[in-house]
Amino acid sequence: MASVPVYCLCRLPYDVTRFMIECDGCQDWFHGSCVGVEEEAAAEIDLYHCPQCAVLRGPSVMKRRRAAPKGAAGDADVGRPIRTGSAQFVRELRGRTFPSADEVLLKPSGAQLMVEDLEEPP
Ligand SMILES: [Zn+2]
Ligand SMILES: [Zn+2]
Repeated sequence: MASVPVYCLCRLPYDVTRFMIECDGCQDWFHGSCVGVEEEAAAEIDLYHCPQCAVLRGPSVMKRRRAAPKGAAGDADVGRPIRTGSAQFVRELRGRTFPSADEVLLKPSGAQLMVEDLEEPP
């Protein structure tokens, strides 16, 4: 009898009728029901870490919501502002474009420029 690949904490073969989630740490597949992840909740997970990998790599990474609901309590890990100076902060900052000084500086034309403007105050 050919051996069937088994997955999850329960070491069962793949079952199409059951929702499964892939661990980004060990690339194993887990039944949502075995690891306490519901299918709906999995849509919010960016990187899933199974219970074993969570110990080594930390908890699963949730997707960042575009607009965190105001006053949402008990959701400290979701929609958390990026910490200044963190790698992510620097990356996002680099991705931004700033107007160059030339675009920001006012350049009055010769006709508008008054002599007084050029003179130092006494
Ligand atoms: Zn299972
Ligand atoms: Zn894992």
